[in-house]
Amino acid sequence: MDLGLNKKVIIISGGARGIGAAIARTLSGEGAVPVIFDKLSDPAELLINQLKSMGFEAHFLQIDLSLTASIQDAVKNIVEKYGAIHGLVNNAGINDSIGLEGGDPEAFRDSLSKNLFHYYDLTHFCIPELKKSSGSILNIASKVALTGQGGTSGYAASKGAQLALTREWAVELLKYNIRVNAILPAEVMTPLYENWIKAFDDPDKKLNEIQQNIPLGKRMTTVEEIASMAAYLISDQASHITGQQIHVDGGYVHLDRSLDT
Ligand code: NAP
Repeated sequence: MDLGLNKKVIIISGGARGIGAAIARTLSGEGAVPVIFDKLSDPAELLINQLKSMGFEAHFLQIDLSLTASIQDAVKNIVEKYGAIHGLVNNAGINDSIGLEGGDPEAFRDSLSKNLFHYYDLTHFCIPELKKSSGSILNIASKVALTGQGGTSGYAASKGAQLALTREWAVELLKYNIRVNAILPAEVMTPLYENWIKAFDDPDKKLNEIQQNIPLGKRMTTVEEIASMAAYLISDQASHITGQQIHVDGGYVHLDRSLDT
């Protein structure tokens, strides 16, 4: 299947590593031009250099997505450089464990700034270009939006809001033929996940327990499996899909694990 992404300029927040980096690699393989917005420069530059050495066009801008003015400048920079934006993947986030008991009101607001506000900001500043290109938007949310996790109010509130915004924006942007969808990963081994699992007393035991609860294959979802769905949803092959939340999670959220075989 040709996804028709050749030369399409697609911004990926948090694309320096983990799921975002996999999306950048997959989009590159489809001929698109991934543009990474991330605060980490070393892994991003390594990735961009790898892609360029394979003959692909790719670009990186180092920004802290908590700063609205930086997002606005970065989007302007990309429009000046490429003349268009065809897609946006809101992906950057951190499961920062700001709970009801462990956290406080200021930390909660800070968590929303790290996880939620930049999804709105980046989308807001990309809209003029996405209107011209009839581009599409993808929000990377989390199963935590639906299942809860405990001890992570800021992250859960942000992920839930991302799903609400996916539907809200899908309606608001219908008139421009801009599609908006969300992917909900559950358990994917990335630097973010590694840091989270390390916080347990026995990380290996905890990881094994988690994997045993993943219905399909008793294994983590790979970043490539998330990226394949991301590339499809961003592409015109998904031309009649909007306002959807897609679970790429080996059945983690929907299958009854007590009836496991
Ligand atoms: P990751 O490995 O930590 O990669 C995320 C990247 O985004 C990092 O380079 C990170 O830099 C960057 N980033 C985060 N906040 C930023 C900010 N405010 N400004 C600039 N850059 C920022 O994370 P991941 O596991 O790939 O997660 C990607 C998305 O998937 C997140 O939205 C996450 O909630 C979601 N997700 C992941 C899983 C999973 O199992 N991994 C499950 C459900 C949902 P720093 O490291 O410096 O922050």
